[in-house]
Amino acid sequence: MPGKVESLLVTEAEGVRLKLADGRELVDGMSSWWAAIHGYRNPVLDAALTDQMAKMSHVMFGGLTHEPAITLAKTLVDLTPDGLEHVFLCDSGSVSVEVSIKMCLQYWQSIGKTAKRKLLTWRGGYHGDTFHPMSVCDPDGGMHALWRGTLPEQLFVPEPPSGFDAEPEQSYVDNLAAEIERHKDELAAVIVEPVVQGAGGMRFHHPGYLKALREITAQHGVLLIFDEIATGFGRSGAMFAAEHAGVTPDVMCLGKALTGGYLTMAAALCTAEIADGISRGELPVLAHGPTFMGNPLASAVANASLGILKTGAWKADVARIESGLHSGLAQARELPGVKDIRVLGAIGVIQLDHPVDMAVATDVVTAQGVWLRPFRDLIYAMPPYVSTDADVEAITRGMCAVAAKA
Ligand SMILES: *Cc1c(COP(=O)(O)O)cnc(C)c1O
Repeated sequence: MPGKVESLLVTEAEGVRLKLADGRELVDGMSSWWAAIHGYRNPVLDAALTDQMAKMSHVMFGGLTHEPAITLAKTLVDLTPDGLEHVFLCDSGSVSVEVSIKMCLQYWQSIGKTAKRKLLTWRGGYHGDTFHPMSVCDPDGGMHALWRGTLPEQLFVPEPPSGFDAEPEQSYVDNLAAEIERHKDELAAVIVEPVVQGAGGMRFHHPGYLKALREITAQHGVLLIFDEIATGFGRSGAMFAAEHAGVTPDVMCLGKALTGGYLTMAAALCTAEIADGISRGELPVLAHGPTFMGNPLASAVANASLGILKTGAWKADVARIESGLHSGLAQARELPGVKDIRVLGAIGVIQLDHPVDMAVATDVVTAQGVWLRPFRDLIYAMPPYVSTDADVEAITRGMCAVAAKA
């Protein structure tokens, strides 16, 4: 469908560089929306794909299974917080949110608590673009306000107070507890993005709110879903953002960087309790079966990406990028119109006091040899983990240039 601004034609990509048809090269500050953490044409990922292609590109995942998907499920169970033991492979992040919601609804239905069908979330969130995920995105911000009246109505509490290092506010936690208690009989689950709210506004909060959510939901018989589609696989400085809080949700969604940015694939993981509950129902399996579920190519490249992560080298890379973002963005603090600068892990954000002029922004960043995609009042970057210090410097220079001119 037509956009207002002409898109740039990309012909090739290698490492952190995108090559355009007109010969320009841009350092990718976006990791293709959080996904391409190991860079483009990564030799390990390329080899995993070609090896798998020589065996089988796809086979249906009903009644049949295959080694790449079995390995992937086992690895995800090993890697994620203790207690998440069952894996459902999905086509995309939004579908994994659909599936995670369905897991919770079907669990309550299977154990006879059919009134528990609503979701609660805090404002400022983003969970995807299909209809149930849209119903738990921020109801006012973003692009989904258009669907009010069509979407299922969920319960919202205020957005969590900002700041990864800002001590949790007891009054916020008390209100959270009161709302969950008041609605516990109709609540199936609480769904949130842990620590980092991404496309809803690039805001960070203290992990203490997640600890509080874990205690409150357990106390009132409400399930807890963490959407780690953006935060998963090291981006916030921990392998999963849940680790900052030291808690395990009942359901976790993964996506984006799962395949290192090569192919679309996501996952919804749940505890044994939820899987057992579903298996006791009238329909004893999760009522979901996408055609391309567990695609072998996507599974193989995900296994290769997780193999790279398992070496642990990402930790030093993310810390290095974090410090490069801190020092590179400091200069923007003095610019007129800059409201806030924040960095967490390999995520850097400049927030303006006005919307970015998108007609100008793309020209300004590409003139710096960088690719960024600001939205609303936010200029943000999440560089690939293989970015060098010089790449990160170029990215922060591009971000500052947009802040100064757009
Ligand atoms: C991107 C994202 C989604 C949606 O994933 P898609 O693969 O784009 O459908 C859901 N939740 C969060 C937190 C995301 O960042």
